Amino acid sequence: MDPLKALADAERKPYWLDSPAKPEPLARLFGTTTADLAVVGGGFTGLWTALMAKERDPSLDVVLLEGRRIGWAASGRNGGFAMATLTHGIANGLERWPDEIATLERLGVENLDEIGETVARYDIDCGYERTGELNVATEPWQLAEMNESLEIARELGVRIDVLDRDQVRAEVNSPTYIGGHWDRDGCAMLDPARLAWGLRQACLSLGVRVYERTPVRTMKDTGASLDLLTPHGTVRARRVALGTGVFQPLLRRLKHFLVPVYDYALMTEPLSAEQLASVGWRNRQGVGDSANQFHYYRLTGDNRILWGGYDAVYYNGGRIKPEYEQRDETFVKLAEHFAATFPQLSGLRFTHRWGGVIDTCSRFSAFFGHSHGGRVAYAAGYTGMGVGATRFGANVMLDLLAGERTERTELRMVKEKPLPFPPEPVRSAGIQMTRWSIAQADLHEGRRNLWLRTLDKMGLGFDS
Ligand SMILES: Cc1cc2nc3c(=O)[nH]c(=O)nc-3n(C[C@H](O)[C@H](O)[C@H](O)COP(=O)(O)OP(=O)(O)OC[C@H]3O[C@@H](n4cnc5c(N)ncnc54)[C@H](O)[C@@H]3O)c2cc1C
Repeated sequence: MDPLKALADAERKPYWLDSPAKPEPLARLFGTTTADLAVVGGGFTGLWTALMAKERDPSLDVVLLEGRRIGWAASGRNGGFAMATLTHGIANGLERWPDEIATLERLGVENLDEIGETVARYDIDCGYERTGELNVATEPWQLAEMNESLEIARELGVRIDVLDRDQVRAEVNSPTYIGGHWDRDGCAMLDPARLAWGLRQACLSLGVRVYERTPVRTMKDTGASLDLLTPHGTVRARRVALGTGVFQPLLRRLKHFLVPVYDYALMTEPLSAEQLASVGWRNRQGVGDSANQFHYYRLTGDNRILWGGYDAVYYNGGRIKPEYEQRDETFVKLAEHFAATFPQLSGLRFTHRWGGVIDTCSRFSAFFGHSHGGRVAYAAGYTGMGVGATRFGANVMLDLLAGERTERTELRMVKEKPLPFPPEPVRSAGIQMTRWSIAQADLHEGRRNLWLRTLDKMGLGFDS
């Protein structure tokens, strides 16, 4: 089917958030209140922080302030791949922290296990399935790159099944695949909006006071308290955890480390039994292809296919605007790539198209820190892999706020900051040059030009 036809009826909103399970909004904050801990941001980072603060100490008085609705941003509109990796993949972690990669991998698996346990404990209905991830190659150079990190992954105890052309197609049937790696344990699929709403409910059940539609405009240190000023009220807090993602930070220093990158996705209508049989996919893994500009895709509970990725767009100037959540040029490209990957599904229509903003930092994996004498902590920069890692970030923030030295806080990964991005307009020029170079590398068997090689040497990069 012509991609324009397949897209013709697709609604312009995130599929996951367009759900009857969406809860009614909670009240705004009016007046002045106090808290032992105030959490700013109602995405996964903030929700996990509030929940685990109460789990650690039920007597703590915890307030969560969300500027809009819980989970409306990246957390409720992503691919729903909850990855074990804390470092945006083993290769990135190994390059940056070779001496602690084994610990990071273990902590990542523990973190994902604990996400599964929490989902079960609070009975969160978010379609959690630990099906693993299938990385597929569509060109020989991709296979060679995948094989490079295979040995080290296995040494670190990651079980990876190497599949040849026929084996990978027996899992998921696309004529474009030439091989693949199946990491059976390192990833779970879930419905991200229902996870966010479930975590909201879990927080409420433990006594967290959650205010929605309550943006924090400024944070003032009075000495006696940290005052969070919102349009109709103030929270006087002893400690503050910032889970504000890529949005205007309350701490100026964070601005230099984060850039907003837009990522886009499509959702198909549910596949019929016959259509599903033509693709196989009995093991329901998440799938990612392996070019630099990659697609990620997966089945939903009712057997739709979410198909996203490829373009990672930085709008010059680095602004965040609602209109950037729609990009027809990208949607058409995604629909064409879908048709090439699954020609047997010709005729299948898309029901939703949307985009969302990612908190990209130059090392592709989250950074952490504290300020105000240890009374404020932050975690951000997950760069497109935060569904699982945000829970780790929340634990780091709670360790830092408690002034505790833990295995987490002693990691170099936690102590070190990424390189800052240069100021505009150099920032935009550099990012666009990098995006162009990445696209060129994909066209030329993965060969990286001088610009990318220089960035690689500096440990700088751009990813989604
Ligand atoms: C299209 C897309 C696909 C993705 N796919 C995946 C995937 O499959 N797997 C994966 O691991 N990751 C994926 N990601 C990334 C993942 O969604 C994020 O890493 C993660 O959700 C980040 O969570 P967060 O809580 O830090 O930020 P956010 O979800 O952005 O939440 C931040 C919240 O803070 C609030 N806030 C900000 N400032 C204030 C303030 N001053 N006062 C009050 N509230 C404030 C915002 O309103 C927002 O709700 C994807 C992202 C996108 C956009």
